Amino acid sequence: MTENANTLGFEEPAFEGQLFEGQEAEVFIGLGSNLNAPKKQLDQAIKSLSQLPSCTLTAHSSYYSSKPVGPQDQPNFVNAAALIKTTLSPIALLKHLQAIELNQGRVKKRHWGERSIDLDILLYGDRSIDSEDLIIPHKELKNRDFVLQPLLELDENLELPDGASLRSLLAICPDNQLQRIES
Ligand code: ADP
Ligand code: MG
Repeated sequence: MTENANTLGFEEPAFEGQLFEGQEAEVFIGLGSNLNAPKKQLDQAIKSLSQLPSCTLTAHSSYYSSKPVGPQDQPNFVNAAALIKTTLSPIALLKHLQAIELNQGRVKKRHWGERSIDLDILLYGDRSIDSEDLIIPHKELKNRDFVLQPLLELDENLELPDGASLRSLLAICPDNQLQRIES
């Protein structure tokens, strides 16, 4: 372990805008599922988010169905976004999200393929992170209407750290035939 390793035993990535210990950040999390009763997978993941240590679940968006990106021979996805407030560091939060994914039986099959649950850190305050394990804002955020639309439902004035408005990004984003569904 190096001096950057924390008590959980993994490295904190360097990132712009140092987080002071204990400072609370607003974090947007993307949820997606297209296997094993997707809506129930999202319900369960949101419940798990609400129970994470050092986190408060503030809100979640409606659920949306979308056409898959990547392989087309897979079911449509159900997507949503959640907003939490947390004092967890970005990498500690990522580890918790990966634990929730595993707990819900996520198995890696193929790139951009089917999954019971996918949890991504979309935005972490106004921070930009570019490390091997963690890229924030999420690298596909700009290209996915099923990410942008749920985020805008939570905050219609949301911007990326570089000031780009999500509303304007959605206007030029590929169409994945997004449909709001009953949750
Ligand atoms: P995707 O979400 O692109 O379909 P995966 O869920 O399989 O891909 O994630 C693969 C890896 O992406 C994870 O092991 C994680 O380290 C990395 N990753 C990089 N940035 C992020 C982020 N912002 N949120 C979640 N995972 C991320
Ligand atoms: Mg992911």
